[in-house]
Amino acid sequence: MGSNRYLLTEMSWPEVEEALKTVEVGIIPVGAHEQHGPNLAESCDAVRATEFCKLLAERLYPRILVTPTVNIGVSYHHMPFPGTITLRPETLVAVVRDIACSLREHGIKKMLIINAHGGNQQALGVAVTNISQEMKDVEIAWTQYTNFSTESIAKHVKSEMFGHSCEREVSEAMYLAPHIIKKDKIEKGKIIGMPYIYSAANGRPLGVSYTFDQVTENGALGDATKASYEAGKDICEEALEKIGAFLEDFMSK
Ligand SMILES: [Zn+2]
Repeated sequence: MGSNRYLLTEMSWPEVEEALKTVEVGIIPVGAHEQHGPNLAESCDAVRATEFCKLLAERLYPRILVTPTVNIGVSYHHMPFPGTITLRPETLVAVVRDIACSLREHGIKKMLIINAHGGNQQALGVAVTNISQEMKDVEIAWTQYTNFSTESIAKHVKSEMFGHSCEREVSEAMYLAPHIIKKDKIEKGKIIGMPYIYSAANGRPLGVSYTFDQVTENGALGDATKASYEAGKDICEEALEKIGAFLEDFMSK
């Protein structure tokens, strides 16, 4: 192969056979297909997951291999806006389970799910619990990669309510996949507010079911006009560094 990274979508089976001599962890990118305000294409979370995992694959070549991206997630809360496609949580749990079974058949017993969409978190927790019980020889973990970017988010993101089509996400897109940005349509979120007390968007102590049209008129949070390539680079590099450190530990034991 000419490339110094292992992406299953670009490999033939003889190339995979060769790669499996050194691969220790299978990486499963998971995204979503949902409205992202006027600022971004609906593929945003799937594209960010894919592009982030390409960078991770370069960093840890030849020890990790990236599967195709699960490019639809759990997005009921975005359905009031046109174009969103959602899976049931059970469907996402089943898809991830079947990917894990396939990797295991090819001899990969350690796996990491890299998620780029908040709405998938509960389903991925269930998937990892189920897979660990069903396949005792498999070790699987999951993460939402921006959870690692604490220092860079504190530095670059100033909006009170962010996390969707905001300065954080548009900055990431500038770094990872500028083609999904609607450059002349960038708008600040037209925030209405959360439906109840304590159900704040970030670090919320209370889970309540709501849809995004209750929270924001244009489907965006935060202030995408403050996005920058530098912020996107810092946010992604911090997550790459820390997930890289986790993977070193994960592979060494
Ligand atoms: Zn998103």
